[in-house]
Amino acid sequence: MAGYSGITAGYLILGDRPCLVETGTSTSAPVVRDALTSLGVGPGDLATVVVTHIHLDHAGGVGDIAGFYPSAEIVVHEKGARHLADPSRLMASAKLVWGDKLDVLFGTLAPTDAARIRALGDVGAVDLGNGRTLSSHYSPGHAKHHVGLLDSLTGDLYVGDAAGVYLPETGDLRPASPPPDFDLGVALESIALFEALAPQRLLFSHYGPVDGVRTTLERSAEELKIWVDLTKQARADGLDLDHAVAMVRERTRERYAALQAGGAAADRFELLSGAPSNVAGIMHWLDRSPTA
Ligand SMILES: [Zn+2]
Repeated sequence: MAGYSGITAGYLILGDRPCLVETGTSTSAPVVRDALTSLGVGPGDLATVVVTHIHLDHAGGVGDIAGFYPSAEIVVHEKGARHLADPSRLMASAKLVWGDKLDVLFGTLAPTDAARIRALGDVGAVDLGNGRTLSSHYSPGHAKHHVGLLDSLTGDLYVGDAAGVYLPETGDLRPASPPPDFDLGVALESIALFEALAPQRLLFSHYGPVDGVRTTLERSAEELKIWVDLTKQARADGLDLDHAVAMVRERTRERYAALQAGGAAADRFELLSGAPSNVAGIMHWLDRSPTA
């Protein structure tokens, strides 16, 4: 994505019915196809593509991947399904947020034939073959069309962005609280749900697997609360958005080794869960919830 490697993860579950979790961006789709080819998955072999949510860094490549793998069923939460069939509104709002950077960062989400899309409710399942399933668990908070996915065989839990953004190089974990759907209470409920599922591992979309399930999820909740508390303080002090972003960025900076080191890891953090997006999302939620 955007010239960075190790920024958006796609996971291939190899079994009787091969399943791809997350496509990454449209611009990453050829990279994903080459990787699947190298793992022995040809055009007719992929049974399912499932995305944790429809943000373009996770699902931007769905239309391209659906084209490469004509027999794959595309699985997504019901609140995201129509946007994969007709991406025009999603792309228009992304254009408003990202402007000229949209093409470089994400490319264009191509439409998928609605007949190939299966919409998930609050719970659902993907058949991985041989009695193995990937169960889906509605986990809004980051986005209202977000699900976590639990592999019945391995206990791997695909957490999307609901537990934040994790940097393997440093072990840093930063919340991902973008507008317009972020809601602290809902986000904390999603993290509690993940803990209750008792997974063996967490598989972050940004980026990679983490073994320490309980400590990591506790950290996810703690990070969210810190960012929300600081944003509330900035509001109480009457700061506008730009000054609130600067204040929260400065006051959280020492929590993240990557930001102190600078370089590509810090750039990836800013791209995936930048302070402007996180603080704007929290502000938007506070605007809508006077009692929060
Ligand atoms: Zn993401």
